[in-house]
Amino acid sequence: MEEMGLLLKLQELDLELHRFEAERAKLPAEMEQLEQQYGQFNTGLESQEAALKALKVAIREAESKTAHLEEISTKYKQQLLTVKTNREYSALLTEIESVKREKEELEEQIIKQMEKTETASREIEQLKQKLSELGAAKKEKQTELDLRLREIGGEISVRKQKRQELSRQVKTPVLRLYERIMSSRVNRAVVALHNGSCGGCFAHVPLQKVAAIRKGNQIHTCEGCGRILYYEDNQAS
Ligand SMILES: [Zn+2]
Repeated sequence: MEEMGLLLKLQELDLELHRFEAERAKLPAEMEQLEQQYGQFNTGLESQEAALKALKVAIREAESKTAHLEEISTKYKQQLLTVKTNREYSALLTEIESVKREKEELEEQIIKQMEKTETASREIEQLKQKLSELGAAKKEKQTELDLRLREIGGEISVRKQKRQELSRQVKTPVLRLYERIMSSRVNRAVVALHNGSCGGCFAHVPLQKVAAIRKGNQIHTCEGCGRILYYEDNQAS
């Protein structure tokens, strides 16, 4: 039956169309993943840069505080030369000692902050390197994707055109039936008989019906699943 041949070709086209459409729908997700990764590293870089900036501000503040303490210390030391009483003298010495301790603590803090600055700078360099690699990968992937999308677009439009030509040759009620089954099922609408059973749902097909299907001058559907059945010549059934 010529119609069955047309339906099988139509189904082949539809299955290919489904495959290409599924691939096309899946492609943007791959890009999305790379974009997300890039975004995460970029956020990491931004927060490291902000931390480094804050550290540098803190160091500058600590340094100016140290300079100020140094001035105070110098002033106290000059005052030592002019004090009149022992009490004043020892009070000044205590002050000088306290300023000295404060200054030392600040200097220690500055050293620690400088070390942190170095670590942060190194991490920033690494993140920049990683980002530039990811940026290149992203660009490459985008080119690859665009190319594949164009290819898929071409494959789809060729098949849609073929499909239109083919479906014009199929009788309207048969085409309707085919399309109804196809839209209700994820896989095939037309299946072969296998040893007297439906190739789609494996339901038993009565012998009389098998014979009618074999003759092939009418469309027969499976009573179990409603798919259109056909007889494949190269099998025993
Ligand atoms: Zn069936």
